[in-house]
Amino acid sequence: MAELRIEGLRAEIEGKPILQGVDLVLRTGKVHALMGPNGSGKSTLAHVIMGHPSYTVTGGRILLDGEDILELPPEERAVRGLFLGFQYPAEVSGLTTGKFVKRVLEKHPARNMPVTQMIKELKDALTRMGLSQEFINRSLNEGFSGGEKKRMEIVQMLMIRPRFAVLDEIDSGLDIDALKDVAEGINSLRGPEFCAFVITHYQRILEHVHPDFVHIMYRGRILTSGGRDLVETLEAKGYEWLRKEFGIEE
Ligand code: ADP
Ligand code: MG
Ligand code: MG
Repeated sequence: MAELRIEGLRAEIEGKPILQGVDLVLRTGKVHALMGPNGSGKSTLAHVIMGHPSYTVTGGRILLDGEDILELPPEERAVRGLFLGFQYPAEVSGLTTGKFVKRVLEKHPARNMPVTQMIKELKDALTRMGLSQEFINRSLNEGFSGGEKKRMEIVQMLMIRPRFAVLDEIDSGLDIDALKDVAEGINSLRGPEFCAFVITHYQRILEHVHPDFVHIMYRGRILTSGGRDLVETLEAKGYEWLRKEFGIEE
């Protein structure tokens, strides 16, 4: 079992404080969901976990199996088993999906494999995500539809097999078929060595990927945590209920 422990995390972007003391413990073997209104800091948390250089950490720690990873660059965090599926995946001109995956896997000792094996696994992952094999030779994400980009994030996750997969709004913009494929991909990795951290606005994906824990983020903090029933309460009563429940001023 591995543990990602976030303690009192504070972070800002362009001098604007966003994370106001986030406490959260993720362990492999479990699926966590993170919900919260727009602008509450969910994507900021995802980026800070991965070490995105635009954000400045101003307090707290992130410990991976006891090791503080805040000083490590994103590549080192990836090698240690962290993965971020972006809310807005970037288009990478001039680098094919096949070459990109090959380069990434070369940096993951446990997933380094002969090219023929890699291609075989990549084809399988593409098929499972409803993408044709032609995507291997297309520039990564270039001209992909929104849904194709999200499916491709899951293809990468399936190839890398991270220990902690932070998936930022992987469900937004997906139709029901794409949503089911993506959910199936996440569920297929479920096991003692894997933790998914599913960031979402909507209950919909959580009907297919069943979270063990649900956390609500509000204005840069985890306001409350619970089980799946918290999703239903939130869906029924809205964030307005949260404000009243926790006595938050407008
Ligand atoms: P969420 O993912 O929960 O919708 P974000 O983490 O994307 O929230 O954003 C949190 C806050 O940080 C918002 O108020 C947003 O406007 C602000 N923010 C995000 N990126 C930047 C940026 N590059 N410059 C200034 N403010 C930003
Ligand atoms: Mg948002
Ligand atoms: Mg976001």
